Amino acid sequence: MHSSNEENQVPSTWTNPLAMFSLAGKRAVVTGASRGIGRALAIGLAAAGADVALVARDEAALTAVQDVILAHFPQRKVSVHICDLQQVDDITAVAEAIYSLGAVDILVNNAGMNIRTPAVDVTPAEWQAIVDTDLRGAFFVAQTFGRRMVEQRAGNIVNISSVGGHVALRTGVVYAAAKAGVIQMTKVLAIEWGKHGVRVNGIGPWYFNTPLTAELLRRPEYLADILARTPLNRVGELQELIGPTIFLASEAASYVTGQTLYVDGGMTIYGF
Ligand code: NAP
Repeated sequence: MHSSNEENQVPSTWTNPLAMFSLAGKRAVVTGASRGIGRALAIGLAAAGADVALVARDEAALTAVQDVILAHFPQRKVSVHICDLQQVDDITAVAEAIYSLGAVDILVNNAGMNIRTPAVDVTPAEWQAIVDTDLRGAFFVAQTFGRRMVEQRAGNIVNISSVGGHVALRTGVVYAAAKAGVIQMTKVLAIEWGKHGVRVNGIGPWYFNTPLTAELLRRPEYLADILARTPLNRVGELQELIGPTIFLASEAASYVTGQTLYVDGGMTIYGF
């Protein structure tokens, strides 16, 4: 017996699932967009259809990223916002400027830094610089934009943490503590804001070649140690963070919240 036409009907999301990954008509804020991972993610989100607000301290570098995006996607709206995320007043002011241009659908909470001092030598100033950027800054950025997302009852946040916040690495104790905080913050915010239609997820990268890691990756012995612990036997390419971020930021992940996706070549599951 043939099934009826009615039984053969399937939602358009099943027959055209790639449409769920589109960010057309969305507006994203990317912190730390002046170089490295944030620059790649800003360009990738724009390619997926989003307008983007670029945030960091280096105005010239941000303007260069804006130029690249507009050269490829002249129809996008791209704005540049100077902000030191260690200063909560700066975050508040920059959010006002961003919202004066329109609503925000997506926050990529990416800015971060590291100082790899052995634990016995860490100074209070180093602790403060790392934690104020990677944890305190990340929290107040999430709070500032999340508050507005809760009010508009829609929005989603992608926090960039690190495998170093999940498994123990041999350097960077303060960074590890801060990034572990970001992973846990991602879960708690997902619970608090889920009922308001706001999703909060994270990406945990392993090694990607950026200004943050270039010096380490140039050391042959250190690189060999990294590769020995990486099942895919290579460091990541920046474009390999774009797809996972678009996924989490899009309708394709509409039932995913509180998760941190490790984009790590298999490093975090490698027990031996
Ligand atoms: P990066 O090349 O050093 O870029 C860091 C970005 O953060 C820059 O755009 C910088 O902009 C911004 N930033 C730093 N401090 C800031 C502050 N106080 N206020 C405003 N912006 C600030 O680093 P990356 O490798 O792209 O790292 C991006 C994120 O990924 C970080 O959270 C990092 O911890 C994480 N991560 C990276 C790797 C990796 O292998 N690269 C691995 C795991 C996790 P300005 O200097 O212009 O302000």
